[in-house]
Amino acid sequence: MKDRADLVIIGGGVIGLSLAYHLAKMGFSDIVILEQGYLCFGASGRNGGGVRQQWSTEDHIELSRQSVAMFRNLSRETGYNIWFRQGGYLFLARNAEMAAQLEQNVKLQNRVGIPTRLLSPAEAQGLVPGLNTQGVEVCSYNGSDGVLFPWPAVWGMAEMAKQLGVEINTFTRVTDIDIKGRTIAKVLTDRGAVATQRVVNAAGGWSWQIARMAGCELPNKPYRHEILVSEPLRPFLHPMVSDLSDGTYFSQTMRGEICGGISDPEEGSSMSTSSSFRFLNRMCQSMIHLLPTLAGVKILRQWAGYYDVTPDGNPILGKVNEVDGFIQLNGFGGHGFMLAPIVGKLAAEWVLRKSEHPIFSKYNLNRFKSGEVKKESLVIG
Ligand SMILES: Cc1cc2nc3c(=O)[nH]c(=O)nc-3n(C[C@H](O)[C@H](O)[C@H](O)COP(=O)(O)OP(=O)(O)OC[C@H]3O[C@@H](n4cnc5c(N)ncnc54)[C@H](O)[C@@H]3O)c2cc1C
Repeated sequence: MKDRADLVIIGGGVIGLSLAYHLAKMGFSDIVILEQGYLCFGASGRNGGGVRQQWSTEDHIELSRQSVAMFRNLSRETGYNIWFRQGGYLFLARNAEMAAQLEQNVKLQNRVGIPTRLLSPAEAQGLVPGLNTQGVEVCSYNGSDGVLFPWPAVWGMAEMAKQLGVEINTFTRVTDIDIKGRTIAKVLTDRGAVATQRVVNAAGGWSWQIARMAGCELPNKPYRHEILVSEPLRPFLHPMVSDLSDGTYFSQTMRGEICGGISDPEEGSSMSTSSSFRFLNRMCQSMIHLLPTLAGVKILRQWAGYYDVTPDGNPILGKVNEVDGFIQLNGFGGHGFMLAPIVGKLAAEWVLRKSEHPIFSKYNLNRFKSGEVKKESLVIG
C-alpha cells in the first residue's frame, strides 16, 4: 500500500469508485482508496439496482437524468455488462394526498424533460397484466427508468480506475484520521498509514463514524433496509412496481428474478444487517396482494444493507467548516447507486477545480443551519 497520496477516498462503494474513476479519466490518479471489506461489501453490493428519474425535487430529477445517460454507456465503456434494462417505473398512489404529490411531480419532471405520465388504474393494468389496482387512485409511469445489476457496475468502475493508476486497497479498515490544526496529516488504517491532505468520506452507512474521526458530526444515520430475490422466472414484468402506501417496490431483473423490498416504519437506526422473518412476511404479503400470480413463486434469498439517511433525504456533498480538505460524499439513502455516475463526475470536476457545480455548496452541511434545501419526498424504504 502506498504511504502517501494526493487524495485518499474512504469507502470502495459506488460513490468512491465513481469519483476515483472520473478523476483518473481526467488525468488525476494519485489516489488511494481504502475499503474495509471486499468491493460490494457495503450498500453498493446489496441494493435493488433501481434507476429512476421520478423525483420530487428538480436536482434529483436532473442528476438522475444525466446518470441514466451515463449508465447506458457504462457496459461499453468498462467492458462489464451491467444488465441495464429500461422497463420503466410505475408508482401507485392510493389516496388523494399521494395522488396530488404524483401529479405535482409529473409536472416538474416534464419541465425537466422527463416524459413521465399519469396513468389510470386500467392503463397500469395494461402495463402489468394481473396487477391488483383495487384502491389505487392514480399511477405515474416513466418508461426510461429501469434496473441494472449493481455488481458489474462496481467492478467495472473499479477495474477502469485501477487501469488508470488508482490504488484500491480492499480489506483495509480506516481506524483514525490524524489532523494538525485544521489540516489533515494522515489516514491511519489496520495496514499502516497514508499521508495526505485531502480525504473523501464516501463511507456510506459508516460515514458518521469516519466524520467523527476527523472531529466532525454528520446528521446521517444508518438504517437497515432488507431486500429479497425470487427464483428466476421467464420475463413478464416490465416496469419496477412501487406502491407509495407502504413503500413496496419490486422489479424483474435481466436474470429473471423478482427483486424488491418494503419500507418498515418500525425500523430504527442501527448498525445491523441481519435478516428478519418480519420483513419476509410483510414483503411477500404485499407482493402477492399487488400481483397475485406471484403466490407460487419461491423466494431464494434475503439480505440487508444500510440506507445512509439524512434529515432531508438529500445527500451531503462538499466541504466541512472544521477541517480543510475533508470532503463529504455521503448520505445517499436509498438512491445513491442511481446518482453515482453523475455525482462522481461532477465531484471530480469540482475537486480539480474544473467547474463549481452548485450542488457542492447547496448540499453541504451548512444547509442544516440555514434550512434552505427542499426535502425530497419521493423516498422509498
Ligand atoms: C437493500 C438496499 C436497496 C437499495 N436499492 C437501491 C436502488 O434500487 N437504487 C439506488 O440507486 N440505490 C439503492 N440503494 C442505496 C444504494 O445502494 C446506496 O445509496 C449506494 O450504494 C451508496 O454507495 P456508497 O458508496 O455511498 O456506500 P457503500 O456502498 O456502503 O460504500 C461505503 C463503503 O465504505 C466502507 N467503509 C466504511 N467504513 C470504513 C472504514 N472504517 N474503513 C474503510 N472502509 C470503510 C464500507 O465497507 C463500504 O464498502 C439501496 C440500498 C440498500 C441497502
